[in-house]
Amino acid sequence: MANITTISESKEVRGLNLIAAHSHIRGLGVDIATLDVSSQAQGLVGQQKARKAAAVILQMAKDGKIAGRAVLISGPPSTGKTAIAMGMAQSLGPDVPFTMLASSEIFSLEMSKTEALTQAFRKSIGVRIKEESEIIEGEVVEIQIDRSVSGGNKQGKLTIKTTDMETVYDMGTKMIDSMTKEKVMAGDVISIDKSSGKITKLGRSYTRSRDYDAMGADTKFVQCPEGELQVRKEVVHTVSLHEIDVINSRTQGFLALFSGDTGEIRSEVRDQINTKVGEWKEEGKADIIPGVLFIDEVHMLDIECFSYINRALEAELAPIVIMASNRGNARIRGTDYRSPHGLPLDFLDRVVIISTQSYSGDDVSQILAIRAQEEEVDLSADALALLTKIGQEAGLRYASNLITTSTLLSLKRKAKGISIDDIQRSYRLFYDPIRSARFVSESEKNLIS
Ligand code: ATP
Repeated sequence: MANITTISESKEVRGLNLIAAHSHIRGLGVDIATLDVSSQAQGLVGQQKARKAAAVILQMAKDGKIAGRAVLISGPPSTGKTAIAMGMAQSLGPDVPFTMLASSEIFSLEMSKTEALTQAFRKSIGVRIKEESEIIEGEVVEIQIDRSVSGGNKQGKLTIKTTDMETVYDMGTKMIDSMTKEKVMAGDVISIDKSSGKITKLGRSYTRSRDYDAMGADTKFVQCPEGELQVRKEVVHTVSLHEIDVINSRTQGFLALFSGDTGEIRSEVRDQINTKVGEWKEEGKADIIPGVLFIDEVHMLDIECFSYINRALEAELAPIVIMASNRGNARIRGTDYRSPHGLPLDFLDRVVIISTQSYSGDDVSQILAIRAQEEEVDLSADALALLTKIGQEAGLRYASNLITTSTLLSLKRKAKGISIDDIQRSYRLFYDPIRSARFVSESEKNLIS
């Protein structure tokens, strides 16, 4: 009897909505096992304390210990609050939804504040739907199981080499176990028949496994009898609860997904979807993946929004909510009260706070060098030094934008890289917010006099 084994392949349907300014960030740059933070890793520079705290929070989320709480990243402008949230999302994996919401987006004429927030919450919850499996296609010539990659015995990596590609599948506990039962061990080299899907064991490529060692060194590369495994792959789609809502909402229909013009979705539709998704989960047809909802400029939200979020955090299906604020004490919108970061005190009570610090010149210089690399442009040493000075005075975001504009100027003069002159010309052409505001108020004075 052929034994059917399942290989999960996650299709990235909802990718990370990467904003260009943060495209250099690939993770938190923290060693999850030891919580060691290097000064620069995965595109993130400095802010070691905040990055470490963010890694602890991710661990709490993975252990299911963050429920009912939210995270606030507070710190001066341009100190990497959004960058760290991006790094957290990246560390969670490619099919974990990440939604970014600028608080001002809530105040839209098209829908109520609570509808906008509900949509943002539901965009941040993924449903991984498992579909009918199919036999692996393509000309597979070799399979290698390498359990050592994850350290443990129960999980592993399966590399399937085909004539034109090499695919790496992550295997779950179940699969490795069932393969082991069939005597296909870590390190086995197997060939697979494309049409029948039948695996033939060819031998072992290394001798790490303990039971193999027990057999003695001379059994190395012994020809194994033909195995009877049939490898099937399971197609997995990840969609967000919001996407399921929109597709099932009769008034809008799925085309609204492309236009983004979803309008308000009736609560009965959502209730039905919740029930359905719950059933899929019970039947093993779907997994629910809490993603990340990042709310920027959270001090812009009002008291009604905070009470909505307070309730939403307690729901059975809640994403990790990460908020950012660059305000100190501020008025809570919709009230006359002032409080830290403009958040109501009862809400602050359930918030875990991470704070970011202003950067040193070295950090600014390294971040700008990474940005230049990301834009694939050479910066001369004196151009980087000037840009660093500008970054420290006018903010990283402005300095980062100057790289883009200076690239255009340097291309115009057919130069290979950005020189200090390009930076100076860009600086004169484009104003940073402080200079711009000063210029306008000075002009007003001139007009009045
Ligand atoms: P604001 O309070 O103004 O919203 P912020 O604290 O969210 O600012 P970011 O938008 O994260 O700041 O940072 C500005 C720019 O600098 C972005 O392009 C970001 O990717 C980059 N950046 C900031 N900090 C770091 C860092 N530690 N490592 C790498 N890039 C960074």
